[in-house]
Amino acid sequence: MRIANINGRLALIQASGAVDVEKASNGRFAADPQAIFDRWTEFRAWAGVQSGSAADAFTDHELQPPVPRPRQVFAIGLNYRAHADETALETPEFPHVFTKFPSCITGQNAQVTRVSESVDWEVELVVVIGAGGRAIDEADAWSHVAGLTVGQDLSEREIMLNSRPWPQISLGKSHAGFGPIGPYLVTADEFQNPDDLAISCSLNGEKVQDSRTGDMVVGVPGLVSKLSSIVTLWPGDIIFTGTPEGVGVGRKPPRFLQTGDALLSTIEGIGTLRTNLR
Ligand code: ZN
Repeated sequence: MRIANINGRLALIQASGAVDVEKASNGRFAADPQAIFDRWTEFRAWAGVQSGSAADAFTDHELQPPVPRPRQVFAIGLNYRAHADETALETPEFPHVFTKFPSCITGQNAQVTRVSESVDWEVELVVVIGAGGRAIDEADAWSHVAGLTVGQDLSEREIMLNSRPWPQISLGKSHAGFGPIGPYLVTADEFQNPDDLAISCSLNGEKVQDSRTGDMVVGVPGLVSKLSSIVTLWPGDIIFTGTPEGVGVGRKPPRFLQTGDALLSTIEGIGTLRTNLR
């Protein structure tokens, strides 16, 4: 199943177009895309029998973030081996966790202000929690996941890395528009192997990141399990699962985003998230 936020309304995406969930369900489910995660199991059962519903055409420019107001946003650092190598930092024993404050979430075709000379790109697989919980077993973890989407963990490296006495990782990643996600949320059953997906990022047409999510140090089940060993996960929370190698700060010399740059972030089976810098 594939869902989207079209002009602020929850939609089921089918080959023929978008089915407006509130209308097709006669009001049983609200139009607010964020509200659906509280009723995820019930929604999936309903959506599974909607193949004949009337679908409308839509354009890419009507898409908004599939998870517009997550209560908690987790983000994982140094979760691909080759990326840990390029930053010359060691791979953490327990996943290194920070937040992107939810006000930074935006969607497809976002125009993001380049706030300094040190804004960097990080394509990431984003996990969306369906049924929440605590102390979730790795073996059960996928059943707590509503689906997957594409994210950009945009990062202002100066405050993130050079603040004294401590780095300010969460603030450096939370400027307005620094959390684009989309274009769709796709459920795990749509993938042959949801633990190993091609992930890439191109900058003005040049491929700058190109990896597979199978290269993660801690995969999706491990992240859900480890996070929930400390924190209660709620429906509609999201996890930015870390970025593969190829970010700007790891280059010699470092390379950062410029005004007018266009980022295309792509994950196999989900789609391409477009982000523009202004
Ligand atoms: Zn990241």
